[in-house]
Amino acid sequence: MAVNHVTSGNTGVMAKLVRRLSDAEVEAYNHIEPALARRVRLVRIPLIPGGFSGMTLGTWILVAVPVPDDGRSTLVAHELVHVRQWNEGRIRFTRRYLGSFLQQLRVERAWKAAYWLIEAEREARDETHRWQQQMTPESRTGENQ
Ligand SMILES: [Zn+2]
Repeated sequence: MAVNHVTSGNTGVMAKLVRRLSDAEVEAYNHIEPALARRVRLVRIPLIPGGFSGMTLGTWILVAVPVPDDGRSTLVAHELVHVRQWNEGRIRFTRRYLGSFLQQLRVERAWKAAYWLIEAEREARDETHRWQQQMTPESRTGENQ
C-alpha cells in the first residue's frame, strides 16, 4: 500500500484498465526478478478505501491514480516490492503484514501512523528509495512519496 503519491504530467498514462508491465518497465524495475515482474497485472481502479493510491494483492497491483508506463513510477516500484513479498509466501506475508499492523495499532492507536511502521511498508519504502538512487537524475520524474 502507498499513500500521498503525486504524479506529474500525463506522459504515458495507461489507457487500459488492466495491463501487464511493458518491457521497459520490467527492465527499469530491476529491484525485482524480471520473471516475477512479467506476471504482474496492473489494474486501474477509481478508488481504494483508506485513501491509498496503490495496493498489492499477490501479483495484482491496484492503483487509484494514473501511473506512467515508462518504468519511472515510484508508486509501481513500491508496490512491486510487495509483489515480491507476496511471492515469498502469501501466508507468511499476510501474517507478517497483519500481525505487524495490529501490533503497532495497539501501540500507536492511530492507524495511519501504524501503517507507516509496518515492517513490510518500511522495507518497501527503503527498497524504492534505493531503486530511485541508482536511477540517473535525468530519468527521474517529479513523482514524490
Ligand atoms: Zn506499501
